[in-house]
Amino acid sequence: MLVVDDQPRMLNSLKDLISINGYQVLTALGGHEALSRLEESSIDLMLLDLKMPGFSGHQVMDYIEEKGIDTTVIVVSGETSFDAMSQVLRRRAYDYIKKPYAPDELLQTVENALNQRQLQHQNREIESKLNESERLHRYMVNSSPDIIYMLDKEGKFTFVNDRIALLLGYGKDELVGQHYSRLVHFEDVEQARYVFNERRTDDRIARNVELRLKCKDPDAAPKHFETNTVPIELSATGIYQGKEGEKEYLGTYGVARDITERKEAERTINFQAYHDLLTQLPNRALFKDRLNLALAQTKRSNQRLAVMFLDLDRFKLVNDTLGHICGDELLQAVSHRLQECLREGDTLARFGGDEFTLLLPQIYGQEDAETIAKKILSKLRDPFFVEGHELYVTISIGIAMYPHDGTSMEMLVKNADIAMYCIKGRGSNDYQFFSSEMNSVSITRLSLERDMRKAMENDQFVMHYQPQVDVATGRIVAMEALIRWEHPDRGLIPPSEFVTVAEETGLILQLGEWVLRTSCETLRSWQMAGIIDIRMAVNLSAMQVEHKNFVEHIIREIKRNSLIGENLEVEITENLIMQDMDNTIQKLIKLNEHGVKVAIDDFGTGYSSLSYLQRLPIHTVKIDRSFVHDIKDQPNDACIVDAIIAMAKGLKLNLIAEGVETPEQFNYLRDHGCTEVQGFMFGHPMTEHQARQILLQRPYEDNAFLVNHNKLKLKPESHAAPRLASSDARNF
Ligand code: C2E
Ligand code: MG
Ligand code: MG
Repeated sequence: MLVVDDQPRMLNSLKDLISINGYQVLTALGGHEALSRLEESSIDLMLLDLKMPGFSGHQVMDYIEEKGIDTTVIVVSGETSFDAMSQVLRRRAYDYIKKPYAPDELLQTVENALNQRQLQHQNREIESKLNESERLHRYMVNSSPDIIYMLDKEGKFTFVNDRIALLLGYGKDELVGQHYSRLVHFEDVEQARYVFNERRTDDRIARNVELRLKCKDPDAAPKHFETNTVPIELSATGIYQGKEGEKEYLGTYGVARDITERKEAERTINFQAYHDLLTQLPNRALFKDRLNLALAQTKRSNQRLAVMFLDLDRFKLVNDTLGHICGDELLQAVSHRLQECLREGDTLARFGGDEFTLLLPQIYGQEDAETIAKKILSKLRDPFFVEGHELYVTISIGIAMYPHDGTSMEMLVKNADIAMYCIKGRGSNDYQFFSSEMNSVSITRLSLERDMRKAMENDQFVMHYQPQVDVATGRIVAMEALIRWEHPDRGLIPPSEFVTVAEETGLILQLGEWVLRTSCETLRSWQMAGIIDIRMAVNLSAMQVEHKNFVEHIIREIKRNSLIGENLEVEITENLIMQDMDNTIQKLIKLNEHGVKVAIDDFGTGYSSLSYLQRLPIHTVKIDRSFVHDIKDQPNDACIVDAIIAMAKGLKLNLIAEGVETPEQFNYLRDHGCTEVQGFMFGHPMTEHQARQILLQRPYEDNAFLVNHNKLKLKPESHAAPRLASSDARNF
């Protein structure tokens, strides 16, 4: 408290009175001193004289007002004029006490003033806390990622947070007072009405109701799902007043969430499941759906329908020479042009790779399908420009008509495919209707060719390896590499089912290169694993040997894998050599110069005489398994085998008997001087992994002859652990 008076006596008596009553008191002798006190310390209450020389009580109050100092003023003055009093009160003094004062009255006034002051302070504090808390709640409500709303009992908005306004493009005031139905998409209004009406009587919370809200400006919102609506997921709670039994419904309160992103994600996932991502066209699954639907409709209406199978000619060439990016772009461009040929209601789908299917529902006859096919062929006549290349694309179109060529989805697609293959057979870029006379053999061949090409791209071929065993030591000295096709549907397919077609179509060149590469890489990896003294025998087709770069190919693979030629043996058949003997001999001599060995496979089945072998640069003769099969206990029956063995001995050739299955066969061959054997008795063709395991377990002693020999005699298959491999062979 501060006491201000210009008379020291007055000042002291006031100070005494106040301090005796327990207040902390400062004094100021005159107005000027009062100002310094105010500056130094914070004063709750001031007892202020008015008439003071130099700086009056009025001026002190003006100063307090001007500086906004928070202090309560009680004037204690001898002046009693009305004017002085009113001036004082106008300056908002708390009270006016006349001098001479009555001490009780003064103390009472002081106490009252201080009480009031305290109350005011408390009030102000509460108020600011309230403001703060409201600010916080408002912030929370408005910055909530969710829409928060309140409806009155008529369904009009009484509150919405900023979120909804922002989301739909409204000002907040525009929505309060509006009926909710103004915001709800017309198709969803009925559902919204049901939800909100139900809140009148049901105090459950309605949850996860999906609605679409309309935006204020239909064109404004690019982020929105369906141009002018926002999908939301809504919850609603009824608000009631009153006791149980006589509750009054006041309105609805709830939260809604913008689910645009989720909807978009759902739509994308849905789209991806039924479309090809590269071309954005329907995929196989969607095509089949549509075709089934169209079939059902067509059956009822007695109309016709066409299914086309389209295949780009020589598309693989683009991929192989210009790369996949180029290939992809071309596919996109082609699918774009194809779409330009269609009517509304037609479905063009990407069936896989470079294959498309086209569904033409509701047509009247072949002519309609023919028109479209011609249109497609002519549309593709102009070149495509892809990545700076000018590309010409042709296409083969097979057509199947419902009901003539099939009544089921599968039949129609299959027959359109067959028709398409007929065009491929005669030179491509045309269309063809299916007919029941179509040659199914050539079709099978063509589709086998197609499947093989795909198998090559998809790495479906694998090499298996079959041991060749040295009769004298019982040791595995070589492995023959034998190709298999791991077909995803048909399982493991043996070479007898596809090598001929591969030879006829020329695919064998590519396939053979792969075989050679894979076998050499395997041999290399075995060597790296410490398996050193092993030979790899690789089968070759005539076409490979005839290829002008045949020798270079082989040398390249040997060098690439740091092999030595002696570890590689190529198996060729005698017929191959007979065809172009001089040329072939030249090539084989070159191979010999690099150490590569040559074996005559299936010997004895061809037309050649034994004597021509002298002219050939070969190391090994493989006795065909049909002769080995004929070996019986009686020596007389085996005279062909005897002759071959004798001849090979004379020419100092290595000899391998193929297809050795029984101990009798083995004993016979051994006793007659055959050097090596190969057959199920010593191991079926097996996977690379199995072959490696067996090779790692090989005994090391070269003079293990007797041990192994006896083992072979007693329990032939245990030595080469063919148990691992026998399951493979059983597949055939
Ligand atoms: P091949 O070169 O005469 O191969 C020996 C065939 O006899 C293999 O058949 C093998 O599984 C089978 N075999 C082995 N031991 C026995 C046995 O004890 N009893 C019987 N009954 N058969 C046995 P696979 O693997 O089906 O191969 C068949 C033919 O396919 C091969 O005859 C070969 O001419 C050809 N071939 C295999 N792989 C390739 C290859 O990579 N390239 C080429 N061009 N032709 C290959
Ligand atoms: Mg062979
Ligand atoms: Mg053979």
